[in-house]
Amino acid sequence: MLAAGSSPNLAGFTRPELAAALGQAGATAPDKVRMRADQVWRWIHRHGVTDFAAMTNIAKEQRSALADRFALLRPDIARRQESVDGVIKWLIAFGPNIEAETVFIPDVGGGGALCISSQVGCTLNCSFCHTGTQALVRNLTTAEIVAQAQVARDDLGEWTTANGERRLTNVVFMGMGEPLYNLDAVASAVDVLADNEGMAISRRRITVSTAGVVPQLRALGERTGAMLAISLHATNDELRNELVPLNRRYPLAELMAAARAYPGLSNSKRVTFEYVMLKGVNDSPAEARALVRLLAGIPAKINLIPFNPWPGAPYECSDPATIQTFAAIVNKAGYASPIRTPRGRDILAACGQLRSESVKVRASARPRTAGASA
Ligand code: SAH
Repeated sequence: MLAAGSSPNLAGFTRPELAAALGQAGATAPDKVRMRADQVWRWIHRHGVTDFAAMTNIAKEQRSALADRFALLRPDIARRQESVDGVIKWLIAFGPNIEAETVFIPDVGGGGALCISSQVGCTLNCSFCHTGTQALVRNLTTAEIVAQAQVARDDLGEWTTANGERRLTNVVFMGMGEPLYNLDAVASAVDVLADNEGMAISRRRITVSTAGVVPQLRALGERTGAMLAISLHATNDELRNELVPLNRRYPLAELMAAARAYPGLSNSKRVTFEYVMLKGVNDSPAEARALVRLLAGIPAKINLIPFNPWPGAPYECSDPATIQTFAAIVNKAGYASPIRTPRGRDILAACGQLRSESVKVRASARPRTAGASA
């Protein structure tokens, strides 16, 4: 994130980083650092202020001392689009050529869900995913992940809205990138988003979706307590190798074993399996039955996602009747199998349609920006 001059941007600091920064800056008496950090934290993460002057329970000279040393910034919004169905998509610029998309989907999960990106671009190359056509530029930092929720809260104008009346109630890491290839930043971001003195988005309302980075699944559960979603899309290795090339490294048997072992699973905390419906590819009744067999013993629900087309995509979406038949088989076996209504298709904001124009630039050709995040 670009900071003004060289002032550290407090908006993206974790709680320990904030306390450390205030302590080191010397603007606060050592015995007051903790209390001050708690106050500043609440202003930033509960009230969303971007101006130290608004921190009215802190003495005036303290506020200006903070303003002299620190910044409170949001990244630039390169583009904002609103769909006919109320979905909002922001293209956020974290720096020159570092852009990622964030999508707000109203009326889901008791409020609305914010779909957050964890990387600019992606390494996975899933054959049906638009983001997969863009090479990885880089991981997003904790601050940049958190900033996506801050931008959304600003736009929705609900920083101080009571919990029960908020539109943004859920967060899904289902934007650009593979969250488990950036687990440290994602886990710290979950800590910030879930903080009770901040945005207070319950960990039960935060879902991290992975294409199946098996060795990181346990750590995800232990470090975040977040809900797990797995992008399955196929019931045999041959097809999954083709759709989700990561499967060649972590085949289905290993993936299902890791899902079964995800910390804290129960009937009230289930794994969501995402299954994109591709016409004539993975949508037969036999595959629905194979899916049921694969899930045996896992507290699970299945999200059937009608394929969202993008320019040049080599697939078509299954027919509605085919999807219904598939859903009925899975449902009959006792699994919830909602068909995800495509949202925001008109602005390419639906699942798998996100992409930015950012491209990887050789380090030597990259402009050196003061304060650019690590
Ligand atoms: N890399 C992570 C996070 C991305 S989540 C993961 O794979 O889970 C985005 C979800 O949208 C994934 O389930 C992905 O498989 C799905 N998706 C990708 N392209 C899609 C498309 N064109 N139509 C519908 N769903 C798609």
